[in-house]
Amino acid sequence: MDFKQYVTVVEDFPKEGIRFKDITTLMEDGEAYKKAIDQMADFAKNKEIDVVVGPEARGFVVGCPIAYSLGLGFVPVRKAGKLPRPVLEVDYGLEYGKDSLNIHKDSIKPGQRVLITDDLLATGGTIEATIRMVEELGGVVVGIAFMIELSYLDGRDRLDDYEVFTLMTY
Ligand code: 5GP
Repeated sequence: MDFKQYVTVVEDFPKEGIRFKDITTLMEDGEAYKKAIDQMADFAKNKEIDVVVGPEARGFVVGCPIAYSLGLGFVPVRKAGKLPRPVLEVDYGLEYGKDSLNIHKDSIKPGQRVLITDDLLATGGTIEATIRMVEELGGVVVGIAFMIELSYLDGRDRLDDYEVFTLMTY
């Protein structure tokens, strides 16, 4: 399936010069959304994964259905102040801005095999912060799956040590 035809490229969002890849139009199409999730779940299938982790908010859109289809749990990574119990916090840089991410300290057990998911790999800052949190809690990152990779931002260079799957490359 040509997934790109379901993604809308929005000029100058959220600020000038950014060509935002809007996946909501892919999500709106039941067949395209299902096929995208199925292909990402296929990548993860034989990796003996214990749990799926994804950053808010679009990491949930991708990670939750993958976790469900594999019969696994899902651990949310959230912006500061959103998770109710004790958290591990890390700072990270975005393609457009800076922020910090939180994960519940007890959400990953040492030695657990983790699949990390997000909608899109840009500079890699978000996913690098997510990896750091998982590893600090003792998890083992056995795969990282994205719908979209922006290859011109070289985010993959930060992920040399990991097996990375992407459905679409721009
Ligand atoms: P990075 O941290 O790799 O620079 O940026 C990736 C994060 O920013 C992802 O969580 C993703 O949701 C968001 N992001 C950055 N650019 C885009 C874009 O063009 N489209 C979408 N859907 N998300 C983006």
